[in-house]
Amino acid sequence: MRSLESIDPTSGSKIGSYEELAREQCIAAVQSAQRAFENWREVDFERRGVLMMRVADLLDQGKDRFANLMADEMGKPLAQGRSEIEKCAWACRYFAEHAVRFLGAEPIQTDARRSFVVFRPLGVILAVMPWNFPFWQVFRFAAPALMAGNAALLKHASNVSGCALAIHELFREAGFSDGLFQSLLLRSDALDAVLDRPEVRGVALTGSSEAGRSIASKAGRLLKKTVLELGGSDPYVILEDADLGPTAEACVSGRLVNSGQSCIAAKRFIAVAPVYREFADRFVGLMRAKRMGNPKEPGVEIGPLARRDLRDTLHAQVIESVRLGAQRALGGEIPPGPGAFYPATVLTGVRPGMPAFDQETFGPVAAIVEARDEPEAIRLANQSPFGLGAAVFSKDVARAERIAAESIDAGSCFVNAAVHSDPRLPFGGIKDSGYGRELSLFGIREFVNVKTVYVR
Ligand code: NAP
Repeated sequence: MRSLESIDPTSGSKIGSYEELAREQCIAAVQSAQRAFENWREVDFERRGVLMMRVADLLDQGKDRFANLMADEMGKPLAQGRSEIEKCAWACRYFAEHAVRFLGAEPIQTDARRSFVVFRPLGVILAVMPWNFPFWQVFRFAAPALMAGNAALLKHASNVSGCALAIHELFREAGFSDGLFQSLLLRSDALDAVLDRPEVRGVALTGSSEAGRSIASKAGRLLKKTVLELGGSDPYVILEDADLGPTAEACVSGRLVNSGQSCIAAKRFIAVAPVYREFADRFVGLMRAKRMGNPKEPGVEIGPLARRDLRDTLHAQVIESVRLGAQRALGGEIPPGPGAFYPATVLTGVRPGMPAFDQETFGPVAAIVEARDEPEAIRLANQSPFGLGAAVFSKDVARAERIAAESIDAGSCFVNAAVHSDPRLPFGGIKDSGYGRELSLFGIREFVNVKTVYVR
């Protein structure tokens, strides 16, 4: 029997070991999800909403405990963990309240006596989730999917099984019937036992582009709907008329969210020539002031990375970028001692062809790129296999808004602010960042049957 292990990335010590489910247990879980779905699909929005509101209350009550669990399993600083739990509660309340409006029948005028569209649930949906926001990634999928009347099976990342079980327990405690939300402790190579089952009607995966390709090709063969939220290398464009003080602050906080391990963390800072030097100096100054350390100590903004192998991959990207001509303006060295720490690092003079430009860097490493002017900045921003988030900074809001709306290829583009998710706004990417949307009206309509009814 294989087990999944949780390693505290601060100390490097093993803190948990969980037995992996056997194939027969996976099949039984899918069948129990299907049974729960058949009842749940008939439950009205009001009753679903009452249960979802209870989940929100339980999240609020358990905030400190859950933040500690995340710090233990993947190194998230406590204050950030508490905010993550608050955001999950917000998403639960938001969809509890709005599902009835998002999924109510919509009349359409035709030659029929009456014709309209209804939004019916699909069935059991499998969610494959990453470790970087162990609660938020799950809730932003589960709150809309369950409110739409589906059942959910979670296959969480193998290093956060404690979080997976805590979320399972939350739904049970809130009164969701057995089977409606289940965490399956499994490795990705054992997932076919679930995916192959006919009861599973869709898959939401948040993770790397490689994982997305693999799951989408399997699901495609089985004709199952997928929503993929994958990696990113978000560009932030800094124009010559940007207000550099607040811009540098927004850029640094955008880069350091979750110690840099976020799909929508800012990764490439493309500054036009007249402000390149001043922006880089301000940026380095702010990054230097950030405190790295034990995620449970107050004031620490950069915890360890989630795993040592991920830290080593990041360092290799830095070394190769420097070998290809980038300058190391800050950091870039593995500190001595246990754990998976990596310091705030700034590379300047980054160009296409370097890993820091072409690949996703998942940690506190910023790539600063110089562009001649606005057209070149836009071209560089779009010169990426990814298209998740982006931002434009300028005092001329109309100019920045035009670039954001029309010129940057990304699922979302912010003006004079760091990219962030919000239950009210659609979230997702294009190109290698995936397809489909989560959150908002658009997200809740992903795992539903958009069904036409025509009455003569
Ligand atoms: P990952 O290796 O792709 O893992 C994510 C999840 O997918 C885990 O549950 C993992 O299971 C599973 N998985 C991995 N390979 C798979 C495969 N071939 N088939 C099926 N499932 C598979 O990614 P990660 O390193 O944990 O997370 C970081 C990545 O996620 C980054 O690229 C980041 O940008 C992306 N991400 C995207 C978003 C978004 O909304 N767009 C949000 C957060 C993170 P195991 O743990 O068992 O391997």
